[in-house]
Amino acid sequence: MKDFIPIPDLMNAQKVLVLVPHPDDAELVAGGTIAMLTAKGVHVEYVIASDGSRGGFDPTISEAEMAAVRRKEQAQAARILGVEHITWLGFQDTEVPAPNVVRKPIISLLRKIQPDFVITIDPWLPYEGHPDHRQTSMAAVEACLFSSLPMVQMEDLANGLTPWQVTGIALALSPKPNTFINVEDTWEKKIQSLKCHESQFPQEIWDTFYPIICLKSQEYGKAIGAEKAEAFKVLTAAHLHVMPDTWNC
Ligand SMILES: [Zn+2]
Repeated sequence: MKDFIPIPDLMNAQKVLVLVPHPDDAELVAGGTIAMLTAKGVHVEYVIASDGSRGGFDPTISEAEMAAVRRKEQAQAARILGVEHITWLGFQDTEVPAPNVVRKPIISLLRKIQPDFVITIDPWLPYEGHPDHRQTSMAAVEACLFSSLPMVQMEDLANGLTPWQVTGIALALSPKPNTFINVEDTWEKKIQSLKCHESQFPQEIWDTFYPIICLKSQEYGKAIGAEKAEAFKVLTAAHLHVMPDTWNC
């Protein structure tokens, strides 16, 4: 039963929308894969839900100043990975609202950009304590389900958009990954892009954090005989509704 719906190949994607809660999440969870895709000529865009305004460690600057810093850092990181465009949804950092609010602009963007693949975070990651991560990732999944339904957000159709069904949804930070991407060749780019987020990684934080991401990527790499890999649970929209076997896909 679990093999009934084939799992699409993320590396065959033609156009990818990466939907994440904060600046730096895309590089952290999928930077090596994004660089692999863009090197093949795949069009990759980001959608970032929050403004990142509460993510720094310097309380002497305002939230607006912090948001501006985060935008600049994110633009640099995206440039390194070959990402073509960033859409900021602009929700308040730490206060990203419920999925039924966040999914609205995402549904419209899916219909406008028409990606065949979405990369987001697995909303069923146990012990994820950050509400922005839970809300954004669930909104992304809901949007992938609803973007193909013509009676959802009919105003989109009145605005010239058409219903759109993605081929695949790649969930990063999944407790049950089914796809491992060899990122040995793009690891340096991933690290360079992560380091663009200077406000997030003061030296002492980087020194703790870097060994953890190295170890995790090596652990994922073992699944495919690579030195370093990123991992995803890749599904179709059909896996994400009334399918008890999806956990084991
Ligand atoms: Zn985040």
